Amino acid sequence: MDGDCGHGHGHGPGHGHGHGPGHGHGHGPSHGHGPRMPAHGPPYPGMNFHGQFGKNAVQTMNPIPRSHMDESSSWDIVKATQFGALERCKELVEAGYDVRQPDKENVTLLHWAAINNRSDLVKYYMSKGAIVDQLGGDLNSTPLQWAIRQGHLAMVIQLLRHGADPSIADGEGYRSLHLAILYQHLAIAAYLMAKGQEVDCPDCNGQTPLMLAAQKIIGPEPTNFLIKNNASVSSVDKVNRNTALHCAVLAGNVDATHILLEAGTSVDAQNNNGHTPIDLAHQVNSPLLVQLLAEVKQERIRSKSRCVRMLSTYRVFLQFVFCAALYGSMGAIADMDTESWLLKGVLLACVSGAVNIVCRNLPGSAFRAVLPAAALVASIFWMLVTWFLWFLPDILPPPTTSIVLFTINTTALLYCYLRTCRTDPGVVRATEEEKKLNVLMLAEAGFLDPRIFCTSCMIKKPMRANHCFNCDACVVKQDHHSVWTNNCIGARNHHFFVLFLAALVMMGAWMFYGCLVYWSKHCSLHYQEQGVWGVLMALVNCSPWVLLIFCLAFYHTTWSSMILLLQLYQIAFLGLTTAERTNLMHHQRKLPQSSLRQNPYNMGVVRNLASFFHLRCCGYFKPPATDWTQQGPFGRDLSRFGPPDTV
Ligand SMILES: [Zn+2]
Ligand SMILES: [Zn+2]
Repeated sequence: MDGDCGHGHGHGPGHGHGHGPGHGHGHGPSHGHGPRMPAHGPPYPGMNFHGQFGKNAVQTMNPIPRSHMDESSSWDIVKATQFGALERCKELVEAGYDVRQPDKENVTLLHWAAINNRSDLVKYYMSKGAIVDQLGGDLNSTPLQWAIRQGHLAMVIQLLRHGADPSIADGEGYRSLHLAILYQHLAIAAYLMAKGQEVDCPDCNGQTPLMLAAQKIIGPEPTNFLIKNNASVSSVDKVNRNTALHCAVLAGNVDATHILLEAGTSVDAQNNNGHTPIDLAHQVNSPLLVQLLAEVKQERIRSKSRCVRMLSTYRVFLQFVFCAALYGSMGAIADMDTESWLLKGVLLACVSGAVNIVCRNLPGSAFRAVLPAAALVASIFWMLVTWFLWFLPDILPPPTTSIVLFTINTTALLYCYLRTCRTDPGVVRATEEEKKLNVLMLAEAGFLDPRIFCTSCMIKKPMRANHCFNCDACVVKQDHHSVWTNNCIGARNHHFFVLFLAALVMMGAWMFYGCLVYWSKHCSLHYQEQGVWGVLMALVNCSPWVLLIFCLAFYHTTWSSMILLLQLYQIAFLGLTTAERTNLMHHQRKLPQSSLRQNPYNMGVVRNLASFFHLRCCGYFKPPATDWTQQGPFGRDLSRFGPPDTV
């Protein structure tokens, strides 16, 4: 949810509450004495908060209502500035008012213009000699800092153009970047960094923005954002020599602790008093944090051992072996040549106990992520073995066609599966320099918007790209993240994925055919006499192994055929990806008449399919050879895709 932090709702200045900046932000520093605003007024232009990348970025000035136009001739200059009455301000300045003169609360006109996002007034006052970095208000802040607290990116850009210095500290010691982080205006933070502000620059208390985020902000976004921007996790503050992890633990901030630990922060770093983060977790009486830190410490010690390093190098292969052994042993036990189901039950319980122990000790999420894929490949492995050892002898004398078809099917299945797993789905990459340039360009054009800009990757998203949290990257034309392949399905491997599904469904059909032939030859099934239960028992007694394979095939065929049908419908009839369809369906609830088929990517069934599978057909279809990584974000019908989606 980078896009909508929901801050500032209802409590900005100008709402008649007499609040200055700093109120209504749940986790920011609370200031009880900001500058005050008039009790009644027109809507404050910044009140349409659509997240820090939303409307603020492209804000246009609200025209002054006619009634105020008439009244404005009697306003004093402060009120006229707050409400953006340019003509009245000009009139007063021409009459001799000094734009540098602070009011009785030590606030200048430029402050009032900045906090209310009055771009034309800022321009006018600067032309009249206003001092851009004047300190004012109870917090001794510059106009730039007032604009940052309110999240006015356009104003920040304007003030920086007029030469405002973002490295000045306010009365509380915070510099501009610190304020942008504290108030969770990440677009502004990105812009300041692109303008050359150091991500690890300490404030007057020696704290880096990362320490502030870890200490004062409950949500994960700002901490994540700073880590993504290469903030140092080992920096310490001047006073207590605390790291960001110390700060997070002291504040009981579990989200930030998680992120910092994932980023590799040391759990053994000692502060001035010799306390490690674990000591502090004990001090703040947080069993959750104590457990979390202890687990990570344990895991890190283990990961240093050669054995675990080997395990992690060969984890894909090892998990395949594990799953294959699991299925094999289950089948072998069930197939044992004994009448005693008690013995079989005990052995099966032993196997499940062993599985439980292994699963509990799987080190880290990287291991768990591969498990579904390993289970699928192990299932396919045993299906093939069963086909050749159990079913093929019954189909003998072999009808060559079925063997050839089965071999083609198997080869296609394995090839498409490997290609789906191994092909880069279309990850959008950018160098640090490109990222900074992007931020500057988009911010200054007023387009730092989550449909176009990804705060996690700090890149301009090409049209139809989505951010994947599993892969931690923006993927071009992303469909979904598939657990069965442990990879994203995107522009470059989507067609392999669909072919893989089709091949898997076919494989399932072959297995059903093999099971039927086997049962009809080897088991005496008499449905009329035995009934359903009797037939089932006969199947179990006849060959538990074949029944197990039948169940595996049934399971994999069911999910793959459902996904295949959905995919084909989306690709052929809608021309959309799963992510886009879900998004459109979400917005469709508000507009029940509109049809999913009326979307800019739908070119009709034949052309949709031809373009999806890159078919040329002797040049007849001529599918547009689209490189989605290069597409500009401004589609002809972007608005159909609704308000900014979350990144
Ligand atoms: Zn991204
Ligand atoms: Zn992914």
